Amino acid sequence: MENDVKSTLKEAGFGFKKSLGQNFITDKNLLDSIVRDAGVTKGDTIIEIGCGAGTLTRAISARAKKVIGFEIDRSLKPVLSQTLSGVENAEIIFKDFLKVNLRELERETGEYSVVANLPYYVTTPLITKILEESSLCKSLTVMVQEEVARRFCATENTPEYGAITAVIALRVSAEILRLVPREAFTPRPNVDSAVVKLKVEDSRLPVKDEALYKKVVHAAFSARRKTLANNLVRAFGFTRAQCEQLLSECGINLLARGETLSPASFALLTSAAAKYIRPC
Ligand code: SAM
Repeated sequence: MENDVKSTLKEAGFGFKKSLGQNFITDKNLLDSIVRDAGVTKGDTIIEIGCGAGTLTRAISARAKKVIGFEIDRSLKPVLSQTLSGVENAEIIFKDFLKVNLRELERETGEYSVVANLPYYVTTPLITKILEESSLCKSLTVMVQEEVARRFCATENTPEYGAITAVIALRVSAEILRLVPREAFTPRPNVDSAVVKLKVEDSRLPVKDEALYKKVVHAAFSARRKTLANNLVRAFGFTRAQCEQLLSECGINLLARGETLSPASFALLTSAAAKYIRPC
């Protein structure tokens, strides 16, 4: 860790909180690389989730029009004031990002991208929140556990492919841009990390009822060893005959398992399934 940040943290009497996923990065080259990976330019507004000591915030601010950073831990206030002294285009909001009203925030930001070294204990809820609630987010370039990054980018018929892969595929294309070893963080976590870019693309899949798509996906992966047909019968109360009819309409083998379906096949299955589900 670079000495100036280390001494600022020490002077502020700061103690790292594992429960908040506090693993900081201070290597200037790595920080600059993340900002370059994100493709940040002078016209961009960036939202950062979890500013920590503000090292990434500072690196982003050097290339962006504006950074709005969220940090849950108020005890970082003196540290952030010091790291960001003289930085005019960064605003820090001390709040749990999961409780932020995104629609309200977006009235202030206009279009924006997210760049963050995410707290690992809430990676999926944070990303899901943005994908579900945001209408103006263009992309997310985020540091996550390598294993999670691989799940985001997985293709069907692989062990990494799961419900989260198919659900995020509704909104984003995913690409791993950089692998980051655990030694790059202070304190050192038990796992390696990766920078993944999630690019928001409207109407990626022909899905009218997103809630139903998610329900179908979650049902398909609810018991990985069971066939898709068994999982659908259990989740939706279809009769076996209905289920066979549904799968044959979609050209899906009766013995197929959920993990063999691409997001596009899940989209097709969702449209077909809608006809068999009685409105409540
Ligand atoms: N950006 C800094 C860096 O790269 O060194 C810190 C990254 S650290 C992995 C994650 C940060 O997110 C911590 O500072 C933690 O306190 C903060 N955090 C954890 N949960 C949060 C939440 N729900 N909302 C906002 N910040 C959160």
